[in-house]
Amino acid sequence: MADAARHNLALFGAAGSGKGTQAKFLRRELGVEHIATGEMLRHERSQGTELGQTVAAYLDAGKLVPDEVIVAMIRHRLGDPQADAGFVLDGFPRTVAQARALQQMLASLERPLDVAVVLDVPTEQLISRLALRARLEERGDDTPDVIAERLRIYRDQTEPVLEYLAQSVPVVRLDGAQPVEEVSQALLQAIA
Ligand code: AMP
Repeated sequence: MADAARHNLALFGAAGSGKGTQAKFLRRELGVEHIATGEMLRHERSQGTELGQTVAAYLDAGKLVPDEVIVAMIRHRLGDPQADAGFVLDGFPRTVAQARALQQMLASLERPLDVAVVLDVPTEQLISRLALRARLEERGDDTPDVIAERLRIYRDQTEPVLEYLAQSVPVVRLDGAQPVEEVSQALLQAIA
């Protein structure tokens, strides 16, 4: 039933877990707005905007951009009419402070989060996927040292976000090590 479908979702998972791939699938399949903070930041940097210059050093080091910067950047996207059919957050929130700000923004927009979905992938597999991506794409943050830092930050700062969100929304964990199409099907079931 369309009314019961949960289309305001946040996708979690460490770097290389397939969040971007699955978010793009949901955008095609459901027409939801795909809000990817990492992509937005890389775009700002490639355009050389003031924001892009501010965040470049964080991106290169694999460190989190300050919460205020991210929250300000994302605010208008959440209220975008294009998000009427729902939205999928990819890479946000990454800290408990961001999650609190998100809940407040969504409450005032009357667009509460329906579900958080986590793509679980073993660390060794993440590292080999990211090494492959480093060869295919020009991403300066897919080097071994920076990958290790991003995985550490995910564990220390982003895993606690799931405990926080679990107080108010269902948190569904999926096996992200399955083939892409199987993850997509499991995801559709999780939000149906
Ligand atoms: P991603 O493409 O999601 O892996 O993000 C790439 C990089 O962008 C991260 O390593 C951070 O430097 C930055 N970034 C993306 N999303 C956030 C966020 N929600 N909070 C802080 N930094 C972020």
